[in-house]
Amino acid sequence: MKFTFVRHLVQVGILVLFVLGNLGIFKFLEGNLSGSKLLGVLHLNDPFAALQLFLAGLALSTTAVIGAIIVLVFYALIAPRAFCGWVCPVNIVTDLANYIRTKIGITKNLASFSPKARYYLLVLSLVLSAIFHIAAFESVSYIGALTRSVVYLGGSFFAIFVAILLVDIFVQKRFICGHLCPLGAFWAVTSKFSLIRIKYSLDKCKKCNECLRVCPETSTLNMVGKSDGLVSSECISCGRCVEICNDDALNFTILNFGDKK
Ligand code: SF4
Ligand code: SF4
Repeated sequence: MKFTFVRHLVQVGILVLFVLGNLGIFKFLEGNLSGSKLLGVLHLNDPFAALQLFLAGLALSTTAVIGAIIVLVFYALIAPRAFCGWVCPVNIVTDLANYIRTKIGITKNLASFSPKARYYLLVLSLVLSAIFHIAAFESVSYIGALTRSVVYLGGSFFAIFVAILLVDIFVQKRFICGHLCPLGAFWAVTSKFSLIRIKYSLDKCKKCNECLRVCPETSTLNMVGKSDGLVSSECISCGRCVEICNDDALNFTILNFGDKK
């Protein structure tokens, strides 16, 4: 199955639904990814943004709290970082950046951040929110900026798109989604018990390592070539490894709670 094609179709489809909803043409989804209304009744809110607002001491309505809990439970349970792989529009741009990097043969990085940097930024965002009484990451979020520029048909779309693209091409391979993004880190932390996971079977694997080449994360497939297992919660559930594996050694599975994580 061509997961990459289907994922990008879903990501674009969600943006199109927002545009149509905000224009009042087809009110399935209205608002944006920080706060939206589904079918005109169900309020949905970004739980990471809600947490920052809470720590900042800013007003959060009961509806917003319930909306954030619904979104948190949905994404946390369905599959690791499903928001990143299947919803976030920045992921489309960073996939394009990686494609361009590979095509033009860029191997050098301008910086060398550890994938752990995003967890430090996650904590920093929360601490700064509490100290300065603002939703710290939300006020600089490239995800919010890109999404709003699309769903409200803003003129800044092209500039934001190009800025994200250039940063991701030149700073470091998979810089934004694999190293920098505190929202990606938030979803990795909250996805520890998600139900749908990629499962690896050592006995089927011919050790071509193609999965390791295409995986956007650096350590989710650490068990490849060593032991059976499930991917970690840093996986973005993109399905690239399943798509590329000719040995049927990697597949989506419903988490067996007896399995090792
Ligand atoms: S890591 Fe951040 S920017 Fe990348 S897909 Fe996830 S939420 Fe979006
Ligand atoms: S382990 Fe597979 S599904 Fe998860 S991020 Fe890597 S390539 Fe994508």
